[in-house]
Amino acid sequence: MQSFQPPRRILMGPGPSDVSPRVLSALARPTVGHLDPVFQSLMEEIKTALQRLFNAPDHACVPLPAPGTAGMEAAMMNLLEPGDRCVVAVNGAFGGRMADMADRAGATVVTVEHAWGEAIDIARVEAALAEAPTKVLAFVHAETSTGVRSDAATLCGLARKAGALSVVDCVTSLGGIVVDAAAWDADVLYSGTQKCLSAPPGLSPIAISKRAQAAIQGRKTKVRNWLLDFNLLMSYWGGEGGRTYHHTAPINALYGLHESLVILFEEGVQAAIVRHARLHEALVAGLEAAGLEMLVDAKDRLPQLNTVRVPDGVDEAAVRAHVLKVWDLEIGAGLGPLKGKVWRIGLMGASATPWHVRLCLTALCEALAAQGFGVESAKALAAADAKLK
Ligand SMILES: *Cc1c(COP(=O)(O)O)cnc(C)c1O
Repeated sequence: MQSFQPPRRILMGPGPSDVSPRVLSALARPTVGHLDPVFQSLMEEIKTALQRLFNAPDHACVPLPAPGTAGMEAAMMNLLEPGDRCVVAVNGAFGGRMADMADRAGATVVTVEHAWGEAIDIARVEAALAEAPTKVLAFVHAETSTGVRSDAATLCGLARKAGALSVVDCVTSLGGIVVDAAAWDADVLYSGTQKCLSAPPGLSPIAISKRAQAAIQGRKTKVRNWLLDFNLLMSYWGGEGGRTYHHTAPINALYGLHESLVILFEEGVQAAIVRHARLHEALVAGLEAAGLEMLVDAKDRLPQLNTVRVPDGVDEAAVRAHVLKVWDLEIGAGLGPLKGKVWRIGLMGASATPWHVRLCLTALCEALAAQGFGVESAKALAAADAKLK
């Protein structure tokens, strides 16, 4: 065997996003023991930073030792018991995954289905909640499979009114658009490290409200999975009275998350959100000037995930292959019903810069021209630049 030397790629897909040299060098620092006092104080700092980032001063916040899907699984498995009613708003791949997990937890699952590319319909969710007492309302804030943002504040409000706990997937939203657990009065929110936080994949920050903690403590049955059982996990992450061994924390990955949070707070969370919005406007102006169309209505678009329709007669996969080969640029393909029909361009965290927007427009125009789709890349760049003045 030989050492693995990855090429230097530019990551503008649905995640992972570019990881900054500062985070990469943090990952390479010496490993310490997971019960070492210095590591415990790092854990405490990460918990406090996550409370600040989710704006969840009264929630228990910890990074789970697995990717974003682990946050989803922890939420569903801890809150749901056999026979509980769970309403899931499904408007893309990740909502569908939530419904599957709720079903595996033994819940009676009611899905409110939407066409891919649409935001969650508040009235239909309200109607589903009104039909019967409901334990959990689950939905995706930023649906990465389609590029759609839904109204988390209103949906969490509906859950409160119905006496249900809310589960909000913030994997792609956290750090890119406003996430506000306190203002939404949300119960469980989870995220991932490789989207707008720009750390490598492998951790899932989660925030759990006091109401949700009480519901978990009052379960009639044990949580079905061991690693993500909140009651056991908190003996490790809880802090008070010393920690007991539960699992071995992914120590170096946590150095990386810590550094990415330091970087985010240096910039300011609000400033980072404004940066994502501004670069999104520039990218969209450039794409439209090149003759391309966005999938999602302007009012529902996510700045950090831009879904672009593939023009008739253009080979979707050949364009992605071209930009990867010639520009070392990764953009995403469509999933499910959008397969072959869209590209997904991420502007997440460290990948949300003017340089990334200009490079992506240049590379895409070149790839389209290679297939005979006439585009003027100078026009596309000028339209993007006009937004960046
Ligand atoms: C990426 C993503 C997930 C899953 O995260 P992994 O880190 O891939 O497990 C869940 N929900 C949404 C909205 C995502 O974008």
